[in-house]
Amino acid sequence: MPDLAPYAAREERSRGRQYSERAPDHRSEYQRDRDRIIHCAAFRRLEYKTQVFVNHEGDMFRTRLTHSIEVAQIGRTIARALKLNEDLTEAICLAHDLGHTPFGHAGQDILDECMKPYGGFEHNLQSLRVVDLLEERYADFPGLNLTFETREGILKHCSRTNAMLLGEIGQRFLDRQQPGLEAQVANIADEIAYNNHDVDDGLRSGLITMEQLKETDLFREQLDRVKSTWPELNGRRVCHEVIRRMINLLVNDLVETSATEIQNRNPSGIEEVRQSESVMIRLSEGTQEKHIQLKQFLRNNLYKHERVKLMTREAKERIRELFSAYMERPGVLPEEVQERIQQAEKQASDQGVPRIIADYIAGMTDRFAIAEFERVNS
Ligand code: MG
Repeated sequence: MPDLAPYAAREERSRGRQYSERAPDHRSEYQRDRDRIIHCAAFRRLEYKTQVFVNHEGDMFRTRLTHSIEVAQIGRTIARALKLNEDLTEAICLAHDLGHTPFGHAGQDILDECMKPYGGFEHNLQSLRVVDLLEERYADFPGLNLTFETREGILKHCSRTNAMLLGEIGQRFLDRQQPGLEAQVANIADEIAYNNHDVDDGLRSGLITMEQLKETDLFREQLDRVKSTWPELNGRRVCHEVIRRMINLLVNDLVETSATEIQNRNPSGIEEVRQSESVMIRLSEGTQEKHIQLKQFLRNNLYKHERVKLMTREAKERIRELFSAYMERPGVLPEEVQERIQQAEKQASDQGVPRIIADYIAGMTDRFAIAEFERVNS
């Protein structure tokens, strides 16, 4: 067993699984969670889901799968440095985007709009639905039956209305408490990963330039260093050297700042972490400002770029049309989904037709959603 700090999550003090199971033979409980996530269908589908660029735009861009792997890699480094539970951190990182719709945030926004009269759609909550309900892999229970700590980490945000429906797992949003430190690490590892890989993908796509990126302190400072050390260096090696250094700087700052924060607050265990008013895993103020500056730069110059906006508009159109086609003509849905609808109607379940359709659409890959859009409109 690796050396764990007292405030790290420990499986012997886990709040456990919804359905009790025998302990695994050669793995920790959190390793088992991680393995269940890697083996599930939603995880494999991440390969064909958009991060920023629609999946078929090019082979070199990040997808949700490579994004999730990068998040896990950054998260594990931080967790190990802080003597937190690395297995749990990895499980949360790998699962954090399982509920993402096709076409990235555009897909999530439009599905939320379609679902407004029926309780809305939140991708974080959807990730939890995937692991709690939608995956069909075990004879004894629906979903993956993950530990409370992994599920707590997956549910990063949640509206009060939804939190009230979720019971134990939603309680912290009502009490304004924090998740365990491993979940806090996964959260910020996600931000570090996407800010940096979106710089890389943005440059590769030609939608943003190094010249523009010099507006941001984080990029400019590292670029100056790289240029002064290797004045002759050109092309991709410059940008990769800069990005590598940005990630390093952020991770080092995060580890040092968080270690001090934890030391100052001195939590005796995970419960004390949960009860604290604010997060303990954080960047220093100066670095946080620079990180936000980079995030805003990407928002203004990449996510709002005309070409990305065009993809966004097309994506929204497709999802909106698919949703209304399924609602009006459930007969065009695959048999399996129709059966689920019939069952829900029989049981007068609160998971009515719109929710089943939203689950089906959310599970689609980019290319499948495009093919489905063509099929239902032909
Ligand atoms: Mg993410």
